[in-house]
Amino acid sequence: MRELPKEFDILALEKRWQSKWEETGIYHFDRKDRKTPTFIVDTPPPYPSGDFHMGNLLNWTYFDILARFKRMNGFNVYFPQGWDCHGLGIEVQVEKENGINKREMPPDKFRQLCEKLVEKYIAIMKEGIVRLGCSNDWTTEYRTMDPDYWRRTQLSFILLYKKGFIYQGTHPVNWCPRCETAIADAEVNYEQHDGTLYYLKFPFENSDEYLPIATTRPELIPACVAVAVHPEDARFIKYKGKRLKVPETSRTVPVILDETVDPSFGTGAVMICTYGDKADVKTVIRHKLPVIIVLTENGRINQNGGKYVGLTSLEAKKAIVADLSKDGLLEKTEKIKQEIGVCDRCDTAVEILQLQQWFMKTRELTNRVEEAANKVVWYPDYMKVRLIDWAHSLDWDWVISRQRVFGTPIPIWYCKKCNETILAEEDWVPIDPKTEKPRITRCPKCGSSEFAPELDVFDTWMDSSISCAVHAGWPDSKDWKRLFPADVHPSGIDIIRTWAYYLMVRHLALFNEVPYKRCLINGMVLGGDGRKMSKSLKNYVATPEVLDKYGADAARQWAAGGGTTGSDIPFRWPDVEYGWRFLIKLWNASRFVSNLLKDFDVDDSSERVLQLLDRWILSKVERLTGKVTDAIEKCQFNLAMEELRNFTWRTFCDCYLEAVKDRLYNPNVYGHEKRKAAQYTLYVVLERVLKLFAPVIPHVTEEIFQIMYADEKNPRSIHVSPWPMMDEKRLDDEAEKQGDLVMAIITEVRREKAEKHLPLNTKISKLTIYANKKATTEMISQGKEDIAGTCKVADIQVLLEKGEGREIKLHDVRFAAEY
Ligand SMILES: [Zn+2]
Ligand SMILES: [Zn+2]
Repeated sequence: MRELPKEFDILALEKRWQSKWEETGIYHFDRKDRKTPTFIVDTPPPYPSGDFHMGNLLNWTYFDILARFKRMNGFNVYFPQGWDCHGLGIEVQVEKENGINKREMPPDKFRQLCEKLVEKYIAIMKEGIVRLGCSNDWTTEYRTMDPDYWRRTQLSFILLYKKGFIYQGTHPVNWCPRCETAIADAEVNYEQHDGTLYYLKFPFENSDEYLPIATTRPELIPACVAVAVHPEDARFIKYKGKRLKVPETSRTVPVILDETVDPSFGTGAVMICTYGDKADVKTVIRHKLPVIIVLTENGRINQNGGKYVGLTSLEAKKAIVADLSKDGLLEKTEKIKQEIGVCDRCDTAVEILQLQQWFMKTRELTNRVEEAANKVVWYPDYMKVRLIDWAHSLDWDWVISRQRVFGTPIPIWYCKKCNETILAEEDWVPIDPKTEKPRITRCPKCGSSEFAPELDVFDTWMDSSISCAVHAGWPDSKDWKRLFPADVHPSGIDIIRTWAYYLMVRHLALFNEVPYKRCLINGMVLGGDGRKMSKSLKNYVATPEVLDKYGADAARQWAAGGGTTGSDIPFRWPDVEYGWRFLIKLWNASRFVSNLLKDFDVDDSSERVLQLLDRWILSKVERLTGKVTDAIEKCQFNLAMEELRNFTWRTFCDCYLEAVKDRLYNPNVYGHEKRKAAQYTLYVVLERVLKLFAPVIPHVTEEIFQIMYADEKNPRSIHVSPWPMMDEKRLDDEAEKQGDLVMAIITEVRREKAEKHLPLNTKISKLTIYANKKATTEMISQGKEDIAGTCKVADIQVLLEKGEGREIKLHDVRFAAEY
């Protein structure tokens, strides 16, 4: 066996293996292989943000461990990698970086700028994935912004349209006035803001009386369609049905009773405006109230706002408050904390507008989503409730159109004469209606030949939510169902409501099938201070900083071992450093073993007599194999890590290696057959540890494996070598019990030397061990040689008596050493 060098450079060897793996293509999925069972990872195509952050690192470590584990378990693993390119984030960034407004330049030019930025971001993130040592199959790389991918998005839209899942409608939508686009519920974040509560007087019609109402949004007074009070609020029920004059307008509105009004908020009477918030939308539907939209798409007051037309909502607020004050209708103001919805991409306060949009009927699938979520295996199990609750919480269908440039075009035209909708045929896609005409000569309804393109594009989630089918080869491969559903869909806890949900509704609607069998959830990465890691909180750690300092295998240990799957995991430098120190420990131990095995031939089993401690650790490593296999199978990566690191560091390095050194160095004293037994044990245990660790620390295990274990007879990489199986026949309870006792004695003797500040190789002239039970003395006698050798004892005695001396806890054994 070859010896490991003393010096090793973790960063350099990681880089070397990354290129070698890519060169040799060991992670490629073999699509032609129809015999080997497949394991399909529905890798979420990330949204290129230009930052492979610690959250990504956690995410990718999880599913790379699983992919590697399955590959070693003999699966033909499909681990694709795509990029979910389109979206508002990129548009906003392009506008910022170039100081432009997308509305003021040709769309194709703007699109080019977006593509350029996306490529730049992809390169950065790809480097992060490669540096982390992930076993993706890069031959599968795809980009949702490529027309070949649009083709799939557009085709899925056409099919859903034909199945009756798509409609166009005027409907309240979340609207970002800065981005000027509709956004999905999932893209609205709720934040606490400081606001002002205005106490106003609404005069009754034909009366001198007035009703006090409180609002945070006086600028929406022109959109007020009712005033609501709680049906049991004794102060106000008498006013039910009475009409109030809406200040600064010429309209009157009714007082209505509504259970959702909180009598303790403000005055207990509130304006219902179309629309102040989502609660208003529901109230308007419940009471069949009219809709008055006063905001334009860029957040200004429109003609429905009367004299305030043209003002921004902030200007309008000031103007209206000034007018109310002048008219004696403003009673007082009060500072409050309020929760407002803001745009996920630009943090602008979201408005609710009523606009013509394309929708997918998702709410009618809610019960089926629940049913499917219950069929999927979730890691951890409690995460499925998040998906189910989210599906039930949705108030309206999925708005799939966006008023943007950088997105997949909606394959629709309208007849200019009769406004008939022309849907692209399945074989027209990919197609951009803005640059191509429909492939018909006349409108089927009126015969006109003039068509106008749909200018909207799809919501980004329309691209990425068909990934399970696309990865399987839909629509081009005839037997794509062979690779469907995906075996695992990994997702961050924060995107269950988007990725896991949209995948589910899309595939249910399109194929009537559940798209993934398992869902693996990772939590968020917290800063060292326990708060969510974020640049603004100054607790942010950039991934390259971690990888540059300690390398991928150390960072992966942090990710795998940082906490239970699904929980939030704090980033702590000491954890990564511990991982790094562990690698050095593993290297040094392996190097030591490689030195002791120079003259060892594994195939020569003659004259090998296993000793107690050999049988002890061989049984323990079988048990470890069972535990680690079970833990990774259940995605309990931190449990696997804990077992592995404890075994390697404590049982293998601190105990076994120390205990057999003497035997290995002095064959003349112990006999060659005992030395060979120790060599054999070292060979087996280290190989096993390397294999069990390979999915978590792929680089260092590969390097050690290649030097020590790989030759013509063995596979070319540890990562395609077979996963070890626990051999129950090799479990030896008796040897484990005896060995534990012997190890406890050795450990305690060494501890005594340390406490006496004696070097560990200090000779002990006589060691007397006392035990109360005969069975115990027999057990100790079996390990006498190893105790004597390890602790440098000249004379060792085991006595069946109570005796005086240092106690070995848990074993009812004492010893006295004479130095
Ligand atoms: Zn925005
Ligand atoms: Zn027509």
